[in-house]
Amino acid sequence: MVATVLAGVVAGTATAAGSADGKAAAGVAADASFDVLGYDVAIGYQPDTQTLEGDTTVSATATEALDSLTLQLSGPAVRSVAVDGEKAESFSRAGEQDLVIVPATPIGRGDRFRVRVTYDGTPGPGWLGTTSGGATTMIGSSSAWFPVHDDARDRASFSLAATVPDGWRAVSVGREGTMVRTAGASTFRWAERDVDPDHVAVTIDRLTTVRSALADGTPVVDAYAPGLRDATEPLAKRLPEVLGFLSGRFGPYPFDAAGNVFVHVNDDGPGIAPQTRTVYLGAGNEQYMTLRLVVHEQAHQWYGVSVTPHDPEDVCLSECFAEYATWLWDEERDGVDLDARYRDLVEANRGDDAFWGELYRPGATPQINLYSKGPVALHALRRQVGDEAFDRLLRAWPQEHRGEYATWPQLESFAEQVTGQDLTGFYRAWFRGAGVPSDEYLWPGELAP
Ligand SMILES: [Zn+2]
Repeated sequence: MVATVLAGVVAGTATAAGSADGKAAAGVAADASFDVLGYDVAIGYQPDTQTLEGDTTVSATATEALDSLTLQLSGPAVRSVAVDGEKAESFSRAGEQDLVIVPATPIGRGDRFRVRVTYDGTPGPGWLGTTSGGATTMIGSSSAWFPVHDDARDRASFSLAATVPDGWRAVSVGREGTMVRTAGASTFRWAERDVDPDHVAVTIDRLTTVRSALADGTPVVDAYAPGLRDATEPLAKRLPEVLGFLSGRFGPYPFDAAGNVFVHVNDDGPGIAPQTRTVYLGAGNEQYMTLRLVVHEQAHQWYGVSVTPHDPEDVCLSECFAEYATWLWDEERDGVDLDARYRDLVEANRGDDAFWGELYRPGATPQINLYSKGPVALHALRRQVGDEAFDRLLRAWPQEHRGEYATWPQLESFAEQVTGQDLTGFYRAWFRGAGVPSDEYLWPGELAP
């Protein structure tokens, strides 16, 4: 949840404030030469050696003629590559994670094709060991364990068959399939119809899984690493209530599966929001196991996962709103006076330049103030446009941009459309500018002294 904390969790990987907690790719140009339709991922994982064997098929459509194509895979060694069943002419590794594939037969523009990659070894950065001997994955780290069309803003279907030794379980995103037991091992299946690859995750541990359902029948799977269930199950049980609250503010829950995964990576582990199933990386630490964190992470399913920030610079779309969701919860559930909180925060931070830094600056990932100034700025926006217009905005954005990659300027235009107000000056004061806004924007509407 908190970027400064994230840096400590996954030293050496590219993590700072990012889409739904974690990803902050340095502006990598999107490769639009092909469009992935689906990932069919099979892995076998050995917790004792922390190694995996993988066999992944990527189905795609070429948007231009392809003599070669590049997927991203870091860590494991590639053993074979075939395109449409034919052994690739060559494959090579480039940079930290590129896998450059030359098919034996060039792919024509508009052709559908399938790339099958087999690989084995130690997973790449973002594959995190748990204190109970298992593993889980960071947001934006799919290339650590399967070949992926990364940084391409390319949603696709995802299915996983994860084989683990007896006593271990694998939990991923989406709906649970049928588990198959073989000698000494079990295969766990998960599938999600449409997902941004940065928001795929898997957790392998000696998990206890508990199944339930939301009121509308949406299946819920909660998973607990050893020793964590007693402390965390009370929070897991609040999930239907939290999703109900958020649906009331943001519109219908965007997915057809839900749940929580509680593991312990280290004491500084925050929560992260893969699609459908939040992973609490520091579930051994009471400091992070709060209802606020649950509300924040679940809010990402609307703000950050279903509607994904297009670039790291757009991440206020994700974090400012997820954090403001906790304000809304405090207001409705605990009767907190948000205007008073706002005034207190403005006064307490007046002299703190870091607090007042830009929330949106093209080409730059915003700083930690997303979590502090972000909700203050959104509360000012609410007072600027009025409750009724603000409520319509909160609800309309995730519904109208569902399943899309969106930019901050799109949100700005959308808010002006929904509210019928010219907010240019307001945005400059609160989102695009640094420093304390002038009184006109600092004390809008009911906040006026
Ligand atoms: Zn977050």
